[in-house]
Amino acid sequence: MRYPNPSWMNSDLEFYRSNVRRFIETEITPNQHRWAKQQHVDRDLWNKAGDLGLLLADVPEQYGGSDGDFTHMSVLFEELAYAGDRSFGVHVHAIVAHYLLNQGTEAQKEKYLPKLANGTMIGAIAMSEPGAGSDLQGVRTTAVKDGNDYLINGSKIFISNGYLADLIIVVAKTDPTAGAKGTSLFLLETKDAKGENVKGFKVGRILEKLGQKGQDTCELFFDNVRVPADSLLGGAEGRGFAHLMSELPYERLMLGVGALAAVEMAIEMTLDYTKERKAFGQAIFNFQNTRFKMAELKSQAVVARAFIDNCIEKIVQGKLDTVTASIAKLHMSELEGKVMDECLQFFGGYGYMLEYPIAQMFADARVQRIYGGTSEIMKEIIARSL
Ligand SMILES: Cc1cc2nc3c(=O)[nH]c(=O)nc-3n(C[C@H](O)[C@H](O)[C@H](O)COP(=O)(O)OP(=O)(O)OC[C@H]3O[C@@H](n4cnc5c(N)ncnc54)[C@H](O)[C@@H]3O)c2cc1C
Repeated sequence: MRYPNPSWMNSDLEFYRSNVRRFIETEITPNQHRWAKQQHVDRDLWNKAGDLGLLLADVPEQYGGSDGDFTHMSVLFEELAYAGDRSFGVHVHAIVAHYLLNQGTEAQKEKYLPKLANGTMIGAIAMSEPGAGSDLQGVRTTAVKDGNDYLINGSKIFISNGYLADLIIVVAKTDPTAGAKGTSLFLLETKDAKGENVKGFKVGRILEKLGQKGQDTCELFFDNVRVPADSLLGGAEGRGFAHLMSELPYERLMLGVGALAAVEMAIEMTLDYTKERKAFGQAIFNFQNTRFKMAELKSQAVVARAFIDNCIEKIVQGKLDTVTASIAKLHMSELEGKVMDECLQFFGGYGYMLEYPIAQMFADARVQRIYGGTSEIMKEIIARSL
């Protein structure tokens, strides 16, 4: 495969990329099929990735991270996409770490970040509910003060890493009458000292999805789950929406980076296939339709690469705003959907067979336009800035 050479790459990152690639080749690729069947990765994948410092590469060393920046995380997201993997929920895990790093109290950072970095704890974030996805103001899960604790009641749906998670950031209303200002984020440790789920917390079934089948996406239920007051993220009530808003650029760019890498992979894969496959006595690449379509997709991917590299450079400098990150998420997710569909067509009937990676990539790509904020919500955010 011929991969692009992002503008931000350097020799250290090249070395890092080769380590990441080796890790994926030995620890992820051979297991993908089995994980898709069991609907989650093996628990020890997290420990192995943690031992190599891959999980929180962009978190300072003082909290157990590897002291890198977003370029290191981009290398990981790209390599996972190049390997066709959407089962390892390291994206959500990194988001949880960033909530802690940027919004948590010093005690919360010291308590959780080292465990998230070494893979002892797996992170998840529980925002969506059966009645509230795009419109998070509609969240009905509540956290009510009870002495020095809070009692959490409600349910969540579509939670990535939900089956394996040890630490879940739960979005709950601390004052249901106060609108956005009544929303808070809680750090819920899911297991007690014996490794059992804490009282009142239940993980529902792993949901059966169209793609990304090795990723444990779950329903979660909270029935008077007791959490101490110091599990309130940042230590203050009513800051939930402000916390959610400030972490959006990181989350959206991360999704954009993965989407573009999948696009690049699909194009290379399709070029290889169309140059091999023959019809009417010639390689199907030689038909003008194939060459023009591939030229079109390639130019769109190259232009998208310039934009995403620019966003990566901006986030490293702390200058990426929410609108630009939303443009990246919208553009890359839509491009991914289009490229997967058009590339699949060149594989003919084989493209519809799951044993061909392009079929899997087509199925995996569909959700990019839905999670992390739908394409329509991205357009809303962009439109508001016009
Ligand atoms: C595989 C997967 C993993 C996920 N992981 C997580 C996770 O880890 N944590 C988590 O909290 N959530 C997660 N989600 C949930 C995801 O974020 C939501 O599905 C998404 O935000 C959309 O919400 P919804 O499904 O309720 O759709 P709805 O909000 O009901 O939207 C339905 C349709 O209406 C459109 N719509 C809604 N509002 C507007 C508007 N104002 N203008 C125009 N159109 C609008 C939407 O764009 C969409 O097309 C995941 C979802 C999936 C499928």
